[in-house]
Amino acid sequence: EKLIVERTGRNEVKVHDVSWASAYAMNARLADRYRVDRVFLVGDAAHIHPPTGGQGLNTSIQDAYNLGWKLAAALCGAGDELLDTYQAERRPVAEEVLGLSSRLLEAGKHGEIRRGREVQQLDIGYPQSPLALRAASRNSGLQAGDRAPDAPIKGAGGQPSRLFSLFIGPHWTLLVNGEWSVASRPGLHIHRLGQRGDVLDAFGHIRAAYGLEADECVLIRPDGYVGAILAFDAEGVAQLEAYLERVGLPAGEAV
Ligand SMILES: Cc1cc2nc3c(=O)[nH]c(=O)nc-3n(C[C@H](O)[C@H](O)[C@H](O)COP(=O)(O)OP(=O)(O)OC[C@H]3O[C@@H](n4cnc5c(N)ncnc54)[C@H](O)[C@@H]3O)c2cc1C
Repeated sequence: EKLIVERTGRNEVKVHDVSWASAYAMNARLADRYRVDRVFLVGDAAHIHPPTGGQGLNTSIQDAYNLGWKLAAALCGAGDELLDTYQAERRPVAEEVLGLSSRLLEAGKHGEIRRGREVQQLDIGYPQSPLALRAASRNSGLQAGDRAPDAPIKGAGGQPSRLFSLFIGPHWTLLVNGEWSVASRPGLHIHRLGQRGDVLDAFGHIRAAYGLEADECVLIRPDGYVGAILAFDAEGVAQLEAYLERVGLPAGEAV
């Protein structure tokens, strides 16, 4: 109680009972490796940093989601190297968070704490990831590795919806702009844009956010990041099939 009065300068706060207390020391530490064979570190076990900026839980949940779909894919036949992409993608994010939260802590000590867009974690991406398949033809706009944007849309029956509602769940999503024919397979939801498809870009938001050319498709990962943006030509089709096979979604029957 003495401490509360001392720190707040107020004496009307009365402590009747302390049900739980622990000593908390500021720390910034990061595990060298997120994976050793069958053992993975996620969340605070992998990275610990000052709570300034409110980054810890968000970072931890994204770790768990990133690893979760990869573990599921590995159990369904994806190659073991898919699991190594967990550290490749998530450790650099934690490195940034350690720096950010430490900087905010220092700023807070001088009463200058300012939380900018970077604390929202909306600009996190994995452009350098082995899972980001970047087509050579695409050098501007949305890229593989970026967070897939939302967009208000209409369904085939004219009903209002959102792109994000198509992404909810552990599946991959392929948005096709044009006449591509892609073999269906469990774990992949295929949606076609346009009047003859099931996704109407009624307000032009998909065009603005994704900038897909005619006969391009975008493949979205279970965690909502863009895996690939490809053109419908022999090379694009081969790349898409190889990619899907690599993440445990080999071709089924043609549709
Ligand atoms: C003061 C403070 C403020 C914070 N504010 C924010 C915020 O505003 N926003 C934000 O995003 N994050 C915030 N965080 C960070 C956030 O709380 C953590 O990043 C998050 O809880 C980490 O989740 P976790 O599951 O990795 O670890 P934890 O939440 O620590 O969960 C680990 C669990 O494992 C249990 N456990 C440990 N050892 C064993 C064992 N041997 N056997 C079985 N169970 C065991 C523990 O009891 C615990 O329940 C804050 C942290 C602090 C300390």
